[in-house]
Amino acid sequence: MDKQSLLVRLENQIKSCRKCDLWRGTTQAVPGEGDPNAEIFFIGEGPGFHEDRQGRPFVGQAGKLLDKLINLVGLSREEVFIGNVIKHRPPENRDPLPSEISACKYWLDQQLEIINPKIIVTLGRYSMARFFPNAKISEFHGSPMRVRRQVVVPMYHPAAALRSGEVLSKIEADFRRNIDLFKNPDKIGEVGELKSESEDPNQMSFF
Ligand code: URA
Repeated sequence: MDKQSLLVRLENQIKSCRKCDLWRGTTQAVPGEGDPNAEIFFIGEGPGFHEDRQGRPFVGQAGKLLDKLINLVGLSREEVFIGNVIKHRPPENRDPLPSEISACKYWLDQQLEIINPKIIVTLGRYSMARFFPNAKISEFHGSPMRVRRQVVVPMYHPAAALRSGEVLSKIEADFRRNIDLFKNPDKIGEVGELKSESEDPNQMSFF
């Protein structure tokens, strides 16, 4: 099966997921979308109100900002893949629970395996924690780090940038300083700043 077919099959499974209780209060699941052959995979936290209504990731205000940031580095939304740690909207947009994150990991793992992107951009702390459980986003935002054969770039969440002008300046600067990386993912070898000595991202340390 090609990547597109594998993703469609996965999407259908996600739509009927009952691994945790989040689905109960939602309109629908938000599996994620984009180019099945994308070299860059953006991972957000979880769907909000508009995403729940439309079944698509990052379509509200934070999504508009994300689109601008993607355009800023010379790419379009259609060229990348956008997904979330959590596939159903938590009630009142509350933070996802550890049990929900671990239940939903099953789906994100498979999306990452099928797409096999060269670059993974984490948006916000929940997404970053998937790769770097103990890291502080304030310390590592914008710094590309090698995790096995991929490069992970932790970024602030666009919603945080909408709430703070300071974070907005930082997120714009972080996207700008990674333009070469985003444009030439094949040159990753030259830009990985911090390398993992571990094969297991959960065991990874920055030092
Ligand atoms: N915030 C997220 O983390 N994901 C979305 O899809 C929308 C807003």
